Amino acid sequence: MRQGTLGCVALATLLAGACVAPLSDSSAPRVPVGGTSSLAGMFTRVGTEMGVPPELLASLSYVETRLQFVSATEHNRTTLGLLGLSPADLALGARLAGVTDAAASTDAEASVRAAAALLKSRDPSARTLEDFLALLDDSTRAELIAVLARGVDGQDAAGDSVVIAARPEIDRAAGFGTTQQALGGADYAPATWSAAYSGNYQAASRTKIDHIVIHDTEGSYAGSISWFKDPAANVSAHYVIKSSTGAITQMVKEKDIAWHDACFNTTTVGIEHEGYAAKPELWFTEAMYVESAKLSAYLADKYQVPKEHGSILGHGEAPDCSDHSDPGPGWNWAHYIDLVKTGGAPTFLAGDATVDAPASLTSGETGTVTVTITNNGNVAWDLDLTRLGTTAPQDRESTVFLDGDWLSPSRATGVDTKVEPGATGTFTFDIIAPEVRETEVLDEAFQLVQQDTTWFGPEIHVVFQVAPKGGDSGGCSASGSGSAGTACAMLLLGALLPARRRRAVRGL
Ligand SMILES: [Zn+2]
Repeated sequence: MRQGTLGCVALATLLAGACVAPLSDSSAPRVPVGGTSSLAGMFTRVGTEMGVPPELLASLSYVETRLQFVSATEHNRTTLGLLGLSPADLALGARLAGVTDAAASTDAEASVRAAAALLKSRDPSARTLEDFLALLDDSTRAELIAVLARGVDGQDAAGDSVVIAARPEIDRAAGFGTTQQALGGADYAPATWSAAYSGNYQAASRTKIDHIVIHDTEGSYAGSISWFKDPAANVSAHYVIKSSTGAITQMVKEKDIAWHDACFNTTTVGIEHEGYAAKPELWFTEAMYVESAKLSAYLADKYQVPKEHGSILGHGEAPDCSDHSDPGPGWNWAHYIDLVKTGGAPTFLAGDATVDAPASLTSGETGTVTVTITNNGNVAWDLDLTRLGTTAPQDRESTVFLDGDWLSPSRATGVDTKVEPGATGTFTFDIIAPEVRETEVLDEAFQLVQQDTTWFGPEIHVVFQVAPKGGDSGGCSASGSGSAGTACAMLLLGALLPARRRRAVRGL
């Protein structure tokens, strides 16, 4: 074939089978924690040194702090460091790890070392991921297993990526003993009952409720629940909601007066939402909005509270005598009240997609793909759950899967940042050109998937040409295919291809 020119440039759709199929290596070892963030290397280094699986440290950090280092503040006394330890656990872990308390409270790596040492101290013989999962409480273990099964496409505080590889094969029963959930007790049926310390609220027999007060915890879900059980707290809330799943714990009966809002407690119900007002895009998830809206709708119906902003209000807006400002300006009131009125039914729709991808790559070479697409549904897309998955067929292992960048061979990436209804989102990921014997055109199909919920939006095609390494492609030599004319035509077209190209995809 002519030196320096493209060999066989064949549209896969026209010449299916005529060119050699890419050679994929699905047995390649997986990178447990990848991405561009320095945290990825830190979790790997600390985990390897201390004998704790790096993916356990990274996923704990994701679950407890969304990969953000948390410092003590006036409003946060429960959750510290990169893994969200309580102050007592952080101090103990620091001692075990041989780092100072001050370092563990201010330095990301020292806080991870403290957490790893604490975990290791619970069972020095623990080696595997399953061994360590067995050391965690039931609710943390259940969440970690769910997170590890689907993988994480997270961002550190600087916006750099941390990718925890999906492990769909993880044993969902790992480490579960015979521990039982606390039974009964909740006023709201979907909630789990876990009583606050009796000195942290006032027993009463209320039937009149006229306001619902929305808070955020400025700490973790587990940390808030344990704080309301702590006799030193002198505070409580009726309900606490978990960011990632919308799971609800009730801690004070609705008839009793929880101490959540200084001098505005007598006829109100307080709902705490896991998260930080300064990072709404990481914590105020669609799952939490939807489940919280269902709870508020139930309370509003039960006590005849108008389903409007004002009767349902933020702590910072309440006529109380505190200086709290939660849940802050990042709480989407219009969306929340809309969900309260409609009972929290989400719809997922997308359209007007464009794909920006390299026009050509050589085998082994990587390139960046950006998919831009509009959210036409009524709920926001989350970093955690709204993803680009392979389709045609669905969940196909992609030939352009890049280990350490993708969540799994069938999930390229999550959305780059939270996307409100009507806004346009981007999905950015890298691809690696597979080994080919002859130059060919690959057409990889993707679709949006709301993890564990639904596939939606148009089919999105990433089309690019792959040339073999060394440039010694031998043309499309499949004998008797009758495609030589087409191949030659495509050769000309290939020479004219721009370095990058955009394709528009229309759909729903
Ligand atoms: Zn509050």
